[in-house]
Amino acid sequence: MILVSACLAGVNCRWDGKCNKNKKVLKLVMEKQAILVCPEQLGGLPTPRRPAECKGKKVFDIDGNDLTVCFRRGAKEALGIAKMYGCRKAILKSNSPSCGCGKIYDGSFKKVLVCGDGVFSRMLKENKIKVITEKEI
Ligand code: SF4
Repeated sequence: MILVSACLAGVNCRWDGKCNKNKKVLKLVMEKQAILVCPEQLGGLPTPRRPAECKGKKVFDIDGNDLTVCFRRGAKEALGIAKMYGCRKAILKSNSPSCGCGKIYDGSFKKVLVCGDGVFSRMLKENKIKVITEKEI
């Protein structure tokens, strides 16, 4: 079973209430080869919500509110689901402060990408679950 970002499967869980539907990810879900999670919603954040970016290992929204606790709580919940289903691989949304893998925005809210992982992506890797983005399918 593969774990996927819910927004890639067409769920409108993104910060702006929209999604990033990806046909290949949606096909995996429809064929029951993948389960979907949105760690930010699982962390108790509303949809829509203010945009957020990582700064080091913390996460702030564009108004400067520290959302790190919510992001970590949601990542732990989503990790629990991944373990429940025995997932060994995840396809996550690129550049997100939760799901981004390899590159994320730098916290300036100026669309500047830097090397790094989102909170959930990092947690999956620490638990030996392979993470790729939708760009690598
Ligand atoms: Fe998509 Fe992940 Fe952001 Fe949820 S937390 S909207 S699944 S990128």
